[in-house]
Amino acid sequence: MSDTPQSVLQEIFGYQTFRRHQSDIIKMVLQKKDVLVIMPTGGGKSLCYQIPALLFPGLTVVVSPLISLMKDQVMQLRQLGVAACVLNSSLTAQKYYSNVQQVKNGAVKLLYVAPETLLQPKTQQILQQVQVDCLTVDEAHCISEWGHDFRPEYRQIVVLRNQFPRAVWMALTATATPRVQQDIWDSLKFQDGKKFVASFDRENLFLQLINKSDTLHQTLDFLQNHRQDSGIIYCFSRNQVDELAATLQDHNFSALPYHAGMESETRAATQEKFLRDEVQVIVATVAFGMGINKSNVRFVIHYDLPKNIESYYQEIGRAGRDGLPAECLLFFGYGDVRKIRHFFKEKSEKERQIAETQLQALIGYAEFTGCRRKPVLAYFGQTAVQENCDTCDNCTSAEKNVQDATIPAQKFLSCVKRTGEMFGAGHIADVLRGSKNAKIRRFSHERLSTYDIGAELTRKQWVFLANQLVSQGFLQGDEEVGSLRLTTAAGPLLLGERPFLTQMIEDREKTSTGKRKIDFGDYDRDLFEKLRDLRRKLAEQVNVPPFAVFSDKSLVDMAASFPQSQESFLIMHGVGRVKNEKYGTIVLDVIRKYCLSRGIRPKPLAQRHLRSERGKKRPPKFLRVGAVFNRGLTIEQIAANEQIKTVTVVQHLLDFAAAGEALRPYDFSKDYPELTQYKTAIAAAFARHGDFRLTTVFNELSGEVSWELLKVFLLQQHHDALNLP
Ligand code: ADP
Ligand code: ZN
Repeated sequence: MSDTPQSVLQEIFGYQTFRRHQSDIIKMVLQKKDVLVIMPTGGGKSLCYQIPALLFPGLTVVVSPLISLMKDQVMQLRQLGVAACVLNSSLTAQKYYSNVQQVKNGAVKLLYVAPETLLQPKTQQILQQVQVDCLTVDEAHCISEWGHDFRPEYRQIVVLRNQFPRAVWMALTATATPRVQQDIWDSLKFQDGKKFVASFDRENLFLQLINKSDTLHQTLDFLQNHRQDSGIIYCFSRNQVDELAATLQDHNFSALPYHAGMESETRAATQEKFLRDEVQVIVATVAFGMGINKSNVRFVIHYDLPKNIESYYQEIGRAGRDGLPAECLLFFGYGDVRKIRHFFKEKSEKERQIAETQLQALIGYAEFTGCRRKPVLAYFGQTAVQENCDTCDNCTSAEKNVQDATIPAQKFLSCVKRTGEMFGAGHIADVLRGSKNAKIRRFSHERLSTYDIGAELTRKQWVFLANQLVSQGFLQGDEEVGSLRLTTAAGPLLLGERPFLTQMIEDREKTSTGKRKIDFGDYDRDLFEKLRDLRRKLAEQVNVPPFAVFSDKSLVDMAASFPQSQESFLIMHGVGRVKNEKYGTIVLDVIRKYCLSRGIRPKPLAQRHLRSERGKKRPPKFLRVGAVFNRGLTIEQIAANEQIKTVTVVQHLLDFAAAGEALRPYDFSKDYPELTQYKTAIAAAFARHGDFRLTTVFNELSGEVSWELLKVFLLQQHHDALNLP
């Protein structure tokens, strides 16, 4: 087994470089210092404990809240050739026993357990017999009542601190406000450890909000533009879930419902189909998600309002775990705000207060006209790095029309007052627009001074304005009757002592859904589809979900760079030793055939790697040299630039060619005129001894021909072979 974090990263996981924080975290853990890791979903938390687990002599125990999560992790680790297993109540007695044996034998590096299982005396007995080097608490926010998934058993894990004196403790989570972070730290009795908080910003998620008007058609429109993509649509209620799923099916979309009211087998089957890309869209209540580790979810739609920013962040977090662009669409309506408040009623006063504060923050998010990332990050106590993120609706919309709506606001407020603070927004709008409906006549509202003074806005716009007034605190709605009342803040506004600014409804409605095309950059779509098919077949054979074989990102990488050799295949994102052994030959075969059939001359991998992300480890030198050569530099120029001998450059080019990379058409005798003279002699010598007997050939030509020239000769041969007309 490999022996540094870097070599494990490359050989086992198939990644070239660590992401931010990963390397520091791993170092701390290896020094047995406790760490708390707060990193967004998809940030790469798992590696932070998986790599130390492979380097520690003993066992790493991972506490995880859900069986599906554990199974998923174990399945993915096994795909990488890592010895991992689970202990939980879902195992058969036989399987349980065999897993226990493996743990006792030291055959297992990572053991996943549910907190309940870990707390059982029989589990502790087993663990007493082995050396536990690390105890990892995954989804650590479950420890805190302030978190969104509080699990009482999680709080008890700390009683095990003394049981494993040699173990370092880790806690990881994707969502934790500063308050929850502190709670985790204290509950687990971390002392001289360290907390790592990565940026919560998920740069690959496009954040978009649309005001609810015709949610169904907007959704259909969106899906139409995402025919190939996996996604989740969240709804409030089970009924809505069933209904929407059925409607989508009627419109020929591959969609299935998922909620807690369904049989557990049906739910499991649905989840499985989603993981395996057999169904495209899941329409679900929030019951769906925590166990979903699918990396290629390309969109998350909130058909209804989530209950707070934290849940929202958690739910959209399921999109784009593979790091490729994904879209998050939130349908926002004040009706939903009322519905959510309705649920608060059953809560205790304290809980209601918390819930209300959180809901206000969410409304603030919805109404915010600046970069959407700001309120989200602010919620987690962070600040956005850029003023303009370029990946949210507000930053990308051409006109961000915040208007001065002081006069309409005054008209509205005064009409609310004159009608006795007894009516809802719709009726006030009717009065302002001079409607002649029965209700108006019944209350003689046509006689009011505010009757028919508001033709400048449509009814819908007045209602929208009312909602803005409510959410900015000038009006208060009565939940029971739906009537509006002025707050004390309304006074100064009515008196013209302060302005009222808002975005008006048409501006928002211009933001249509789904027209953005997800752009993964430049890659060959046909090859991607071919590889996707192949992936599905391979996954079926080994009975795992497709993304466990290769992530979308790996496929995009392959479809962009057409690797031709094992060496270049190993450079692909997520391809490590085991995946290369398992799938390399068959995938390379498909890529090569594809390239041949389309007459594609693979572009040198090296160029891509030269341009690769900042901070990435440099690619092997031969790739670099090959790339520069292909860009038009001569051997001598390269030697001068790189400060190496020309013979070394030639050797690099040979390695480059041997790795299956194509060299640009070139006549080497231009640089090495003596090649023409000796070509026949060298060819004859090689013919007698074989290509790789350089020394023999060199001796046979009794030093008349230099090493360098021999290599150049080979290079020319390679090159001619690759560039046959
Ligand atoms: P989290 O647990 O934080 O949600 P994961 O650990 O599942 O995130 O990682 C998300 C994705 O990023 C996975 O596909 C993982 O293999 C990949 N990943 C993690 N670290 C790296 C890295 N250093 N380089 C490239 N990909 C990485
Ligand atoms: Zn933005």
